[in-house]
Amino acid sequence: MYVNGKFVPENQPVISVFDHGFLYGDGVFEGIRAYKGRVFKLREHVDRLFDSAKAIDLDIGMTKEAMEEAILETLRQNNLKDAYIRPIVSRGNGDLGLDPLKCDKANVFIVLKTMDSLYDTMELKAVTVGVRRNAPDALSPNIKSLNYLNNILAKIEANAKGGQEAIFLDNNGFVAEGSGDNIFIIKNGVVYTPPTINNLKGITRATAIELLEKNKIPVRVENIGLFDVYTADEIFVTGTAAEAAAVVWVDGRTVGTGKTGPVTALMLKEFERVTTTTGTE
Ligand code: PLP
Repeated sequence: MYVNGKFVPENQPVISVFDHGFLYGDGVFEGIRAYKGRVFKLREHVDRLFDSAKAIDLDIGMTKEAMEEAILETLRQNNLKDAYIRPIVSRGNGDLGLDPLKCDKANVFIVLKTMDSLYDTMELKAVTVGVRRNAPDALSPNIKSLNYLNNILAKIEANAKGGQEAIFLDNNGFVAEGSGDNIFIIKNGVVYTPPTINNLKGITRATAIELLEKNKIPVRVENIGLFDVYTADEIFVTGTAAEAAAVVWVDGRTVGTGKTGPVTALMLKEFERVTTTTGTE
């Protein structure tokens, strides 16, 4: 893995207990995929990492170009073609107090693991959870921060209720997103997804919108309520790790036919095409 400019073995301890990412979740991260040796949407992920850092006033201490090169070099050093790559930037080592001024510089880590492309018809059961995705809020869902406790609480609740994925609502009761993915619903041939005020600006979400529009499927970005979820013909979630996965059951209601629907199937096919034909080497 990459640690502050050096490559070290994965099992080597590299982080101090005084790291504020560890102590307080004070930091940001990204999740990126490489397909067949090419990194998918590298610039978009690096841009989002730097935006997340800017929003929490964290100086990453390197340029975007240097970060891109570090990501590509970590992939090369591991000789991997299909991988999930996780850049992590923490505030750095400080003392036991909260004050970020006590941290002299950011710690930058890049870890990765082998991950094959799925392009699989995953059919998920999802449940809406009581824990809320806060928005609009100082801790915007647009910040991909090291504090994912809300998402973990959502996952715990989903697990307890027999779902594989959680659906967050925001403080106004609008549908926000999954615990680690964005949500799309389809009704009468139109695809709906919530505006990114209450969810992460998903890079797979943006790709999905682009691919749907290229295929002349209308997409509307608007608030979605629970009624829309329960009465949808199809639902799918998108994310770097999940790619595009069908949701076939929500809160005890079968979605559409209970199987991956035609729009979701088209998405998967299109997604496979772009991830295997584009990317940075
Ligand atoms: N929402 C949350 C909370 C996430 O953690 C992720 C994963 O990064 C996503 C959505 C999907 O975003 P992306 O498609 O950029 O991976």
